[in-house]
Amino acid sequence: MGVSKAVLGDPAIVDAMMLGKVKFIADSRIENIQRMKAAGISAQFVLLRTPFSQAESVVKYAHISLNTEIETLQRLSHFAKAQNKHHQVIIMVELGDLREGVLPGDLSVFIKNTLSLPHIEVVGIGCNLACYGGVKPDSANMGALSELSARIEKEFQIRLKIISGGNSANYEWYKSAPDVGRINNLRLGESILLGCETVSRKAIPGLHTGAFQLFAEVIEAKQKPSLPFGEICQDAFGNVNHFRDRGTHQRVIVALGRQDVQMAGLKSNSAMEIIGSSSDHIILDNQANNLQVGDEVNFSLDYGSLLASMTSPFIKKQFKGRIGES
Ligand SMILES: *Cc1c(COP(=O)(O)O)cnc(C)c1O
Repeated sequence: MGVSKAVLGDPAIVDAMMLGKVKFIADSRIENIQRMKAAGISAQFVLLRTPFSQAESVVKYAHISLNTEIETLQRLSHFAKAQNKHHQVIIMVELGDLREGVLPGDLSVFIKNTLSLPHIEVVGIGCNLACYGGVKPDSANMGALSELSARIEKEFQIRLKIISGGNSANYEWYKSAPDVGRINNLRLGESILLGCETVSRKAIPGLHTGAFQLFAEVIEAKQKPSLPFGEICQDAFGNVNHFRDRGTHQRVIVALGRQDVQMAGLKSNSAMEIIGSSSDHIILDNQANNLQVGDEVNFSLDYGSLLASMTSPFIKKQFKGRIGES
């Protein structure tokens, strides 16, 4: 599954994922799935975040949703009946990371109750690791998921088509596992978009790690001292800061701020150091001393910054090259 949430289901990017032969497009927000459908993307859509009040739209727009609560499944069944449909679900199992999931000991009863819902079809089970607890996918937890799937199939005489082992953090496990067992699906966002796995954020051979670039305009470039002068109080965000005297350097301000992006995830591509930021400004230390107002500087993004900047209405999204072009 190609996961589109970090780019808000942007149709151009999702088209590229489909060209790359993902079988499903998965997103955490039903609004993003609606956007993709409205843009004419015809894919099997999967809703990643377990729903509740949006059950009616989920049945309408998503083919499959991930679930962990019987009340939600009852609602989905109710709306599926009203829409004359069967809604497909993947039941998420808790394997230690402590985000979403039914505890393994409760799984049999949970599946039994789900199977009794007339308009719900259980198409698989899955798990999600390395999100809240940072638990690493390994042969133990992946083996447990495989075993659970075999046990459920035997107990209920059903066939589970999708055994979904996890997200981009599963890459290393997948590459090194001599046998992946029953796992036949991963839900991949960051690894496709930024070209890295997410256990230690190593680049994946053959993938581009700079597909996304953030450009910002220089709105001030001046030689200034590095120590503020006057009495120091709280800054705009309530912190009292301490400064290091680095002498007089070129300080560059770009028209980008915390409202647009997460500072920690930005890396200047011209080796400038980010020394501060406010809602609308980023201040950079420019040793090279070579910029003037109106120049453009660019940054590489991590996943959090990509997500934030794709969400910012102030940042224009531009696509270079056409899909299918090399
Ligand atoms: C976001 C998400 C993913 C994708 O995670 P990446 O680290 O971007 O690959 C997979 N599964 C679920 C349930 C998610 O919410």
